[in-house]
Amino acid sequence: MYYPVHEMFHSWQGEGDHLGKSAFFVRLFGCPVHCPWCDSAGTWHPDYIPENVNRIDADAIADTASAAKPEFVVITGGEPTIHNLSPLTKALKKRGLKCHLETSGAFEIKGTFDWITLSPKWQSAPLEASLEMADEFKLIVEEENSVEKWIETLGKWVDGRSIWLHPEWSKREESRILKAITEFVKNNGVPFRAGLQAHKYYRADLLDPNSAKPSPLGGDPRLGF
Ligand code: SF4
Repeated sequence: MYYPVHEMFHSWQGEGDHLGKSAFFVRLFGCPVHCPWCDSAGTWHPDYIPENVNRIDADAIADTASAAKPEFVVITGGEPTIHNLSPLTKALKKRGLKCHLETSGAFEIKGTFDWITLSPKWQSAPLEASLEMADEFKLIVEEENSVEKWIETLGKWVDGRSIWLHPEWSKREESRILKAITEFVKNNGVPFRAGLQAHKYYRADLLDPNSAKPSPLGGDPRLGF
């Protein structure tokens, strides 16, 4: 099976329970969710949609990942689960590689994963089956009351699994957002964790020449992106 690959690069996992570990990223193209602050603008912003997206065979992707010798492979996007990921995870596992997934949970997950990070989005609610399969959650805190709203929405799915609270990247220096996360973690403890996208501070992904050029954050919902 062939996949539309936006970029593939070796870096380290900058978020969540596996923070700081060597990881090979496979970023697939496309996402129908259209979050206005998505930092993967190449998948949705009209000015950053690439002219060509390479379609690469599962075995060729797995060979490239294997050559990098990472601790695990992260399949991300865009929204990777709009594709059938079974052939890709099968090819990666054949080479002894662990497979991690980053998803909004809004689409059926096809494939065998060792770790699933689910970051739900208001624009497209996560499926119950995806919520059950997730190993950790990542909530994007864009307003001071974002965490409370998400906790109410997730309901019974708030259990022992880590729930990482990340400031929406363009608001990472807004003290009201950072304070809201800090107070929530102080008041509630486990399973809530204050987090951020540490790899961006290191510019770690950019050190691999195969990573895509960074694109600006934020869209204009009035214009439909
Ligand atoms: S679901 Fe993820 S990839 Fe899709 S637009 Fe939102 S943040 Fe971007």
